[in-house]
Amino acid sequence: MSGSNIRFESLEADVIVVGAGPSGVPAALAAARNGAKVILLEEDAVPGGAPVDMYVAMICGGPRRGIYSEIINYLNENHTLDRQPIIPFNNGEDGCNHWYLPYAYADAIMHFINQEPNITLITNAKVVGLITANDEITGAENSLTTVAGVLVENSPGTQPLEIRAKVTIDATGTGILGEMAGCDVRYGADTKADFGEEFAPEEKDNVVMPCTLMYITQRLQAGPMPDKDELKRGGFVEDKLNRWASAAYDQALQNNRGIYLHWGATVACEDTRDSIALGKAYLQALEMIKHNARVWYNHGFTVHIAPKIGVRECRRVIGDYVLTIYDMLDGTYHHDTIALSSYGLDTWGSTKVGDKELNKLVKPYGIPYRALIPKNTEGLLIAGKSISGSRFVCSSYRVQPIVAQIGEAAGAAAALAVKAGQGLRSVNITKLQSILNIDESQLPRK
Ligand SMILES: Cc1cc2nc3c(=O)[nH]c(=O)nc-3n(C[C@H](O)[C@H](O)[C@H](O)COP(=O)(O)OP(=O)(O)OC[C@H]3O[C@@H](n4cnc5c(N)ncnc54)[C@H](O)[C@@H]3O)c2cc1C
Repeated sequence: MSGSNIRFESLEADVIVVGAGPSGVPAALAAARNGAKVILLEEDAVPGGAPVDMYVAMICGGPRRGIYSEIINYLNENHTLDRQPIIPFNNGEDGCNHWYLPYAYADAIMHFINQEPNITLITNAKVVGLITANDEITGAENSLTTVAGVLVENSPGTQPLEIRAKVTIDATGTGILGEMAGCDVRYGADTKADFGEEFAPEEKDNVVMPCTLMYITQRLQAGPMPDKDELKRGGFVEDKLNRWASAAYDQALQNNRGIYLHWGATVACEDTRDSIALGKAYLQALEMIKHNARVWYNHGFTVHIAPKIGVRECRRVIGDYVLTIYDMLDGTYHHDTIALSSYGLDTWGSTKVGDKELNKLVKPYGIPYRALIPKNTEGLLIAGKSISGSRFVCSSYRVQPIVAQIGEAAGAAAALAVKAGQGLRSVNITKLQSILNIDESQLPRK
């Protein structure tokens, strides 16, 4: 290519993981620990996903198991300000909410990745296409799309980099690889007719949960604190110095130093699949933050604004099983459960239907392996918040401890499939569950 010194090349691995966020990192680690050669691709310069680039630095839901608990233990041991591990392990059982600085997450992730020779991490590597083959199956209703790798954006004017693997895991948080593979992808509300959920609306819409621009403030000098009335909506959220406890505003006012996490400004985004619309939402939120940022600054605080706006909801890729509200109401443990979810509906809307408050009725539930396998595909697994579920259930399993378990399961399953030389639907579930150390007795029962 003229004008470029970047040579087109191709790479190969057993497993490609796209996205180094809360689901992608455990996916890569689990695949590597189970013997697969892994290429982990991240479009940002630094791995971490939402906790690092959106400052979504607090943890909700549980249970906190497996590789995720290793990461949190590392954070507790190395990134508390008083250098004391938080005991009991960050379950909120100490009455505190916990959050970690974005750099702390990046450090923890690099610590685990660096220990794993089977992982090649490539950052600034945006996946822009898939390498696929369509197998027409005689008599079958649909053709099967086999995903054989990905195309990574290269320097302008050059060919994309081709990376091939037996299994590709979409841990992008957007389900974009599912869309590229031509899967049935959902966005916004499902209708009653879609999955038979009696609480779902009759009509489809394309509306998703709002986006939030997070920020962190840090006090650099003593002096009078801002008056509560000076601040527009959203004051203190979490006080990190105070053993990262939730601090009531009045309590926080008495502290002369501290570092605080803020849910800065929440805005509707026209379409979270569209990068221009996300840019627009970011600028709108930035404008809304301006007032409070000035107040903090005037009171001796620095203000660190997240580089990306926080996107709660994007695509969901329909798989061999679709999780519905009934999995939550029944507290279902599926025969192929690979992750446990103990978190309510968090839809940013009312969960009251008629005289029923759904959040009082839902129970912890198991996430089946089938929800990670997109229909009519081979060689592709979905991890993270884009797995196959209705919009209701997605609002629950999207939190970090749960997407991390899903990622770990996807990575382990991919390694098993590669080792056995079999397709993803032939993975030995008993073996997978034993690797994940999961059984029904661990499902928290209300
Ligand atoms: C404002 C907000 C508040 C939240 N609050 C909480 C909370 O308090 N507690 C909690 O536990 N959870 C919370 N969540 C939810 C949680 O943070 C996310 O659901 C979770 O991070 C999803 O993990 P993921 O791995 O699926 O995706 P992500 O965290 O989004 O990670 C995906 C990664 O993939 C990369 N990527 C995307 N596309 C490509 C591509 N084409 N090529 C290469 N790389 C790509 C991205 O850069 C990113 O690093 C919140 C979310 C938001 C937005």
